[in-house]
Amino acid sequence: MRRGDTKSERRVGLSGPISAFHDMSGGLLVAIGGNATHPRDIKGTAAEQFAVAAATGRDLLPLMTLDRELIVTHGNGPVVGKILMRQMVARKRVAPMSLDICVAHSQGGIAYLLMQSLENALREANNPRHVVCLLTQVEVDPDDPAFGDPLKPIGHFYDEDEARELADEMNWQMREDSGRGWRHVVASPEPRHIVDISLVHALAKRGAVVIAGGGGGIPVIRDSGGVRRGVEAVIDKDLTSAHMANVLGIREMMILTDVPRVALNFGTSQQRELTRASLSEIRAYRAKGHFPPGSMGPKIEAAIRFLDRGGERVVIGPLGEALPTLNGDAGTEIRRDGD
Ligand code: ADP
Ligand code: MG
Repeated sequence: MRRGDTKSERRVGLSGPISAFHDMSGGLLVAIGGNATHPRDIKGTAAEQFAVAAATGRDLLPLMTLDRELIVTHGNGPVVGKILMRQMVARKRVAPMSLDICVAHSQGGIAYLLMQSLENALREANNPRHVVCLLTQVEVDPDDPAFGDPLKPIGHFYDEDEARELADEMNWQMREDSGRGWRHVVASPEPRHIVDISLVHALAKRGAVVIAGGGGGIPVIRDSGGVRRGVEAVIDKDLTSAHMANVLGIREMMILTDVPRVALNFGTSQQRELTRASLSEIRAYRAKGHFPPGSMGPKIEAAIRFLDRGGERVVIGPLGEALPTLNGDAGTEIRRDGD
């Protein structure tokens, strides 16, 4: 069954529906950024993270009380950076873990914070809905060109001497990052298959809020005998979210982040916020370079893929205004041409 799903997903081209399920068209997938548990401006104590997660629970409550299947995916940027830093500092005394294990640690830790805070928000509202989290492995292609040219910076900045030492000792690839210092770079391959997607589907159909695909998923490859193993890579959470929504047959995807709207000429005096755009308009803006890699770029790419492969509507907006964004009263709405 699982193997069949993988094959049918791989057979399809770059557009057209790829869903393996037919009863989730009323469902909603919400991708939330790293700011949902760990904004960039906090130190990151446990108490701070619980407080931020509690606010996220309250932000998402209006979505959780809708009578719709709900999947929540999340980023892990600041958290996995700290996990890597922690093990770098302690490496002479505690054996460092591989990146797939670090991603799994971050998934578990963030999903715990979210699960508890989402559930607390529901209980305060006297709502008995369950929240469940799934550690999610995501298969990537071992021949993905990203492995030949690792570009995704992760973790902290190092000076040149430290960078050299880490490259030797940890076998890391290091790159200088625009004059700001040296960073560990890893491959960011395409998500190909979300392992146990049928369980995400089953739990969502049962009414649980399902937290899955955290940090883009634990990157794994599978050999011809079906045996999986983790790889040193990170997968983009926005692309994994779009893929998951498409395979589940969900028609509406939300990407909640820390800006009010998608903007043109972002960060310049010419900045213009978009309220709505068609798929072809957003493609044209992308071609003009309005959406940089590593931040808005992957969200727009995810939106385009989602709409190309069966999705009908994407909204990108601020986490604090989840319901208005869903209703088109905040954020940016992107629809297929002609809709
Ligand atoms: P997340 O953790 O939610 O994925 P990111 O930092 O990856 O957040 O992406 C959101 C950020 O993208 C915003 O904080 C903003 O600084 C940046 N950004 C870049 N280009 C744009 C744009 N064209 N419109 C809006 N925000 C943009
Ligand atoms: Mg991001």
